[in-house]
Amino acid sequence: METEHSFRSLPVGVSLYCAISEDEEWLFNAIKDLLHVEPLAAVLWGIYEAAKNAGFVQDISAGLFRSDYMLHASTKNSARYVGSIPDTTLKQVEFNSFSCAGATHANKVADMHRYLTHIGAYNGHETKFDISAIPANKNIESLATLLASAHNAYGKPKCKLAEETAVLFIVQPNNFNIADERPIEYALWNRETPVPAYRLDFGPDVLEYTKLSETRELLFQPPWLASTSPVEISVIYMRAGYEAREYDQVGRDARLLLETSAAIKCPSILGHLTTFKKVQQALTAKGALEDFLTDAEAATIRETFVSIYPLDHSDEGRFAREQARNPNTVLNYILKPSLEGGGHNIYGDDIPGFLESVPESNWSSYVLMERIQPPLLANLLMGPAGIESGEVVSELGILGTCLWKRKSPRGGCDMLHNSVGGWTFKTKHADIDEMSVVKGYGCFDTPYLLDI
Ligand code: ADP
Ligand code: MG
Repeated sequence: METEHSFRSLPVGVSLYCAISEDEEWLFNAIKDLLHVEPLAAVLWGIYEAAKNAGFVQDISAGLFRSDYMLHASTKNSARYVGSIPDTTLKQVEFNSFSCAGATHANKVADMHRYLTHIGAYNGHETKFDISAIPANKNIESLATLLASAHNAYGKPKCKLAEETAVLFIVQPNNFNIADERPIEYALWNRETPVPAYRLDFGPDVLEYTKLSETRELLFQPPWLASTSPVEISVIYMRAGYEAREYDQVGRDARLLLETSAAIKCPSILGHLTTFKKVQQALTAKGALEDFLTDAEAATIRETFVSIYPLDHSDEGRFAREQARNPNTVLNYILKPSLEGGGHNIYGDDIPGFLESVPESNWSSYVLMERIQPPLLANLLMGPAGIESGEVVSELGILGTCLWKRKSPRGGCDMLHNSVGGWTFKTKHADIDEMSVVKGYGCFDTPYLLDI
């Protein structure tokens, strides 16, 4: 199996999300049930409207997406394999369009597994591991390439006060993702033509160290270079602002300042709003994909979907409400709020009790997703508890890197850059429902590709 080719041919569907990010009306309809219950969606929509009132001065946007998949065995029994893989297809777990983490860790872990394979660390008496079956991972380079393309698309400084342009990483204060972010920054500086890259904490620091010029270029005055001319920001790469708690008044003002600037946003607020699970559910509706894609593209992507239902008063919603409250059917489902970052989903037989605890008027902010049944493999995991063996399941994330230009408010977009940026691979114990490496639910891993 030619590894590079295998990953590149996966149906990522990223240009789909670029098109949605430019379609305010479609997106509003997809998430409107969230706006009265989900504070993050409400605050982002409010900032979007304020930015729209101010008028947009940049028609290029960037997106760094991660579409997560699991293998699905068609019947539950055939999933209970240990040691060999039954007939399976890839099904999408989730599409992340904002602040996607883990790309660097996946790169480093693949480097480590390849190194250990090169030196024969895994070989037993009879088994020899083949390095060509362990794909190389170039996530750091490809993410930096996207940001550099956006930086180049922005061009020279437009404000007379600035002499140079730079990419600005907006990060959480004291955040645990620093090791995932820094190598991308270094890769920008280390390019043949270096791309200056700075980082700034989301919140008060944005208001203190950046300001807009009269024509809304974003000027950044690095605090350690107070006496020099400001740097004009070409690209804002958001690695913060994904939790409602970050949006006090200062957080709102900071995001609005960034959004109304002339910098290219990775991503824009509308791009951010596509990350909500209500959007993923809306795309499973009959004919939804065809609004944005050719029939053939839509069919390829639809094959990766499992059923996702709204819990509203539509026919589908009524069906989902019944399934979610019936102890015989509920085990086949996961109830998802539109929250990010792991730890919020409700699984199987916890669903009926949970729904009873939530006012029915809020149910429509949740989606009910059919459970993917991945094959179980025997393997070792090394985590905070030490090395453990057992049945495990894995999850493949495909990174999409995109740059596009808005045609008109509802006219779609011209793609300037659209490529598979790489992959992440995570493995967890089969009896764990969640997956979040930073919260201790799983491990970064590398696939061993078999020629089957
Ligand atoms: P988030 O990452 O925002 O918390 P996800 O939708 O990615 O939410 O769900 C968290 C984890 O739960 C996934 O990484 C996966 O391990 C598991 N999971 C989510 N949806 C499904 C599904 N339909 N079938 C099986 N497992 C799922
Ligand atoms: Mg997830």
